[in-house]
Amino acid sequence: MAYDVAAVRAQFPILHPVAADDGTVRPLHYLDNGATAQVPRAVLDAMVAHETTARSNVHRSVHRLAEAATRAYEGARQDIARFIGSQPAQVIFTSGTTAAINLVAHCFGARLRPGDEVLVSVLEHHSNIVPWQMLRERSGIVMKALPATADGRIDLDRLDDLVTDRTRLIALTHAANVTGAVTDVARVVAAARAVGAEVLLDGAQMVPHGPLDVPALGVGFYCFSGHKMFGPNGIGVLWGREDLLADMPPFMGGGEMIAHVTLDRTSYAAPPMRFEAGTPPITPAIGLAAAARWLAGQDLAGAEAHLKQLTALAIDGLSEMEGISVIGPTGTQARMPVISFTMDPLHPHDVAQILDSHGVAVRGGHHCAQPYMDSRDIAGTVRASLALYNDRDDVDALLRGLHEVRALL
Ligand code: PLP
Repeated sequence: MAYDVAAVRAQFPILHPVAADDGTVRPLHYLDNGATAQVPRAVLDAMVAHETTARSNVHRSVHRLAEAATRAYEGARQDIARFIGSQPAQVIFTSGTTAAINLVAHCFGARLRPGDEVLVSVLEHHSNIVPWQMLRERSGIVMKALPATADGRIDLDRLDDLVTDRTRLIALTHAANVTGAVTDVARVVAAARAVGAEVLLDGAQMVPHGPLDVPALGVGFYCFSGHKMFGPNGIGVLWGREDLLADMPPFMGGGEMIAHVTLDRTSYAAPPMRFEAGTPPITPAIGLAAAARWLAGQDLAGAEAHLKQLTALAIDGLSEMEGISVIGPTGTQARMPVISFTMDPLHPHDVAQILDSHGVAVRGGHHCAQPYMDSRDIAGTVRASLALYNDRDDVDALLRGLHEVRALL
């Protein structure tokens, strides 16, 4: 059966704008999913149901609501574990990908010594660059970066020169947020294993496309954000291999992460609680679990084929327009539906602003990837990032809007 995009769209209230008081309806072609995706009714309902029937703190009180909230929160951990093929004890709730990488930089980083090396790439989001620079300041580690190929992929041919016997961690994006390029994880893991290093993957742009068997990837750490996978914001996940988590000191100190506290010393809880100090984001975790269940229940093979078609349509349309250069792979293999381009001589912000006046929401700028922009000698790109509810109308509106931008010049 053909992929039923209309049935998917129908589940997202925001995609069906209501008329303003004067009767006008502003169209919405939402193509900024790489920044934040929209939320289906099922996720909103799950959060409202929790807030209205079981709101309480978790792991503390013994009353009925507290027990219901604890069950729901730990149930959410189990759902996320199922979504990524893991055990619940390896799922740590954080506030997002950024917090997850900072946690690893602090806690795994605490075991690193001056001269130990962390290898990133020039295509990383700032959240997978700055925490390692901060660790470098604290601990004297050495940071190295893989360059990018001309078509916007991490240049894995350079692994041989850049991985050394001092490499302790290779921290890379699973799918690049500027170019959509998907990283060949098996190659990275093989290079890391050859020198006894670990791999961290930033899955922020990967996980919105469906469940994964994270342990089978062979990496040590994996992280992602709820708001990019049809869940709420303020919640994300760090997955860590059991032996690595067990060996790491805590990130923050406070309630819930302890086994026993005296005024002289504290012993710490086992993972995952060791890394979840304080009241956790309970309702967001419940919303995230609902998003994971919702996503796992979609026609994902159909969505993938549909998004490949839309990506090809968008890239073909862009390639025909004067002054536009696609920044990233121009094919549909090993890439996500994230399409970046420049439009000479305009600044990406100006293009995004004009598109907005046509009801097309894209992002224009450096996308928190300034090192990559510098490496291409550009200020930024316009980025159209698609999700499983986008349809041909959205891509047509983008291309039509760009023709109008060109006409204004
Ligand atoms: N990594 C990638 C690849 C991203 O695209 C983003 C967000 O745009 C992040 C990390 C940071 O995610 P968050 O802001 O949710 O922590």
